Amino acid sequence: IGSQKDRVVTEEEWLQRWEMSNIGFHKERGHPLLQKYLDVLLNGRSGLRIFFPLCGKAVEMKWLADMGHSVVGVEVSEQALKEFFAEHSLPYCEEPVSEISGAKKLQSTSGNISLYCCSIYDLSSSIVDKFDGVWDRGALVAVNPCDRQRYVSLMITLMEKNSSYLLVTVSYDPNKHKGPPFYVPESEIKSLFGNHCEIKCLQKVNDFSDKHRQWGLDYFLEVLYILKFVA
Ligand code: SAH
Repeated sequence: IGSQKDRVVTEEEWLQRWEMSNIGFHKERGHPLLQKYLDVLLNGRSGLRIFFPLCGKAVEMKWLADMGHSVVGVEVSEQALKEFFAEHSLPYCEEPVSEISGAKKLQSTSGNISLYCCSIYDLSSSIVDKFDGVWDRGALVAVNPCDRQRYVSLMITLMEKNSSYLLVTVSYDPNKHKGPPFYVPESEIKSLFGNHCEIKCLQKVNDFSDKHRQWGLDYFLEVLYILKFVA
């Protein structure tokens, strides 16, 4: 972790990754852990407001919208958001966000998917209101380590009472790869969120592939947590 704590990836670098299609993180078929643990996220509820921080063009946004939930995402890359709507053939309209200079909201014409093009740090509950559920994959682990506390403090202000938050982290030897994704140990999840919610580790999955071997790693795990913001 020591070797990663000072690493900074700028917004410009993220935009360049999208321009170069250097988006190895994107999962065209969606994430199997959301499929498997959807019931845990929904907890018997329907018509939820679900937040996708640092959303990229995650196809899971389409899944949840098709199930009748209302989806809100935030992403700095406008290209990513436009690719999302284009790849799902979803008509959308664009409008400025009056509270945030330079920001845009891209909303599906059907109204149930609203994607903010801006930095997550520009958002607040007065702009996006609060959420019943969060899918955080490639988000906390993509945040610069120096911004983790700020990110988590903001996320906590966006959670309704009795909301649930599915968090996917990654585990590997941080001395061998600079990230992102960054390694966030369980002890840090507990210190970041522990005062605000119940934390349960649901599953650790071996996700090691050739990509990780090329990064110089010899193991790579995904670790899924459910965070419950109790009333
Ligand atoms: N969650 C997505 C994308 C993961 S990659 C998925 O699972 O596929 C991280 C994404 O965060 C990138 O698309 C990057 O452009 C975006 N990003 C990085 N910093 C951001 C910030 N401060 N605010 C909003 N988006 C950001």
